[in-house]
Amino acid sequence: MHKFFSDAIVVGGGPCGSFTALNLAKLGVDVNVFEEHAEIGVPCHCAGHLSIKGLKLLGLHPLPSEIVENVFYGAIFHSPKGRSFHVRFSSPVTCAVNRVLFDKYIAKMAERAGAHYFLNSMVESVIIENGFVKAVIVRRGKVEERFSAKVVVDAEGISSRILRQAGLVAFNRHMLVKAVEAEVENVQGLETGMVEVFLGRDYAPGFYAWLMPKGDGKAKVGLAAKTGNPRELLQRFMLRHPTASKKLRGAKILQASFHSIPLGGPIPKAFSNGFLVVGDAASHVKPTTGGGVIFGMTCAKIAAEVAYEALRNNDFSSDFLYKYQSRCNKTLGSDVKFMLRIKKMLDALPDDKIDDAINFCAKIGLDKTLQNVEDIDFQGRSFLRMLRNPRMPIALSYFLLSCLFANR
Ligand SMILES: Cc1cc2nc3c(=O)[nH]c(=O)nc-3n(C[C@H](O)[C@H](O)[C@H](O)COP(=O)(O)OP(=O)(O)OC[C@H]3O[C@@H](n4cnc5c(N)ncnc54)[C@H](O)[C@@H]3O)c2cc1C
Repeated sequence: MHKFFSDAIVVGGGPCGSFTALNLAKLGVDVNVFEEHAEIGVPCHCAGHLSIKGLKLLGLHPLPSEIVENVFYGAIFHSPKGRSFHVRFSSPVTCAVNRVLFDKYIAKMAERAGAHYFLNSMVESVIIENGFVKAVIVRRGKVEERFSAKVVVDAEGISSRILRQAGLVAFNRHMLVKAVEAEVENVQGLETGMVEVFLGRDYAPGFYAWLMPKGDGKAKVGLAAKTGNPRELLQRFMLRHPTASKKLRGAKILQASFHSIPLGGPIPKAFSNGFLVVGDAASHVKPTTGGGVIFGMTCAKIAAEVAYEALRNNDFSSDFLYKYQSRCNKTLGSDVKFMLRIKKMLDALPDDKIDDAINFCAKIGLDKTLQNVEDIDFQGRSFLRMLRNPRMPIALSYFLLSCLFANR
């Protein structure tokens, strides 16, 4: 028997929706989660590259071993002409997770904590009464039903449909990059413990391509781009990139998925009366790397806490829910501003300057400085810590000069 009224509703059973539900349920809140697909985590569109520190901060480390596909000690950055720059740490800093299993794991924990999941259940619309979001209309097969709640959390990802119905402004579509993520086998010359990042306008204009080894010659490969067709760009990258093609020319694509990533930074307002927005829907994504799982789940936890406080105070007004926005800004704000600036600079750099910059970074030993980076999610604060190192101001001056000349 369904409960057509609950304290909270979560729209979307992705990692951010389920993590909101988990944290709400742990606080004793009665929560219904609606997911349009028949299975949590499917279809998967994500590389699942997560920072270990981020997982620890969310209380999710260690993950069950079957979810973790590999751990990484660092990254190799490749310039468009094939120069490279290695950053290696003494212990693992990131991991690749199987996103289907990861999403199922979070959802299962939420369910065990008391959240009710409805699969094959698409939220068609929100019902607004007296200026407050009061309910959602859910379509299951041919049946439409009304489910009411005191607070509705929108975790529907990039579609941003519900958000607009609630009167909020979605992220700027011009800041989306189109991405492809593929599983490949028969890859040559992989260094198992390192992620590889490939920069260059010819292969991934406006973003980058990645290669994440899984072992046994298998890997995840993908890219995102501001312009062009991701499928064609991936083919070109695998066959023609000076470094990547040596590894990927003979590789077989086992499966590929296509999706977009919002890179413009969080939407300015992620709350209204009786309504909160989390995850990709709120563009809680790192503008530099496109990583949205740790950022999104960090805000999802805040959303659950604020929703719980709202329920205790019986106040679901924007004036109260504003706390969500201000806590998210406090947690992510300065880091996101920093990342947006860096992204703008990188976007302005022509390929030959990227080549020079990567060459220069390797020459001055910036890799040693970066080994002390403590946090790859919150890049603004890591950068401030790095500035204390004498090598950093030199590299930074060079980088800024490169950008200045590139913009001329
Ligand atoms: C190619 C690619 C690679 C990526 N790689 C990484 C990476 O390595 N690391 C990283 O951190 N991030 C990565 N990301 C970003 C990451 O995938 C997202 O930030 C993350 O999935 C956001 O989680 P979410 O819960 O907000 O949204 P989603 O994961 O999109 O989940 C939203 C869920 O809501 C459901 N839904 C939507 N609308 C409705 C509705 N009306 N009713 C019911 N259900 C609905 C959807 O079906 C979906 O299941 C990548 C993205 C792409 C495209």
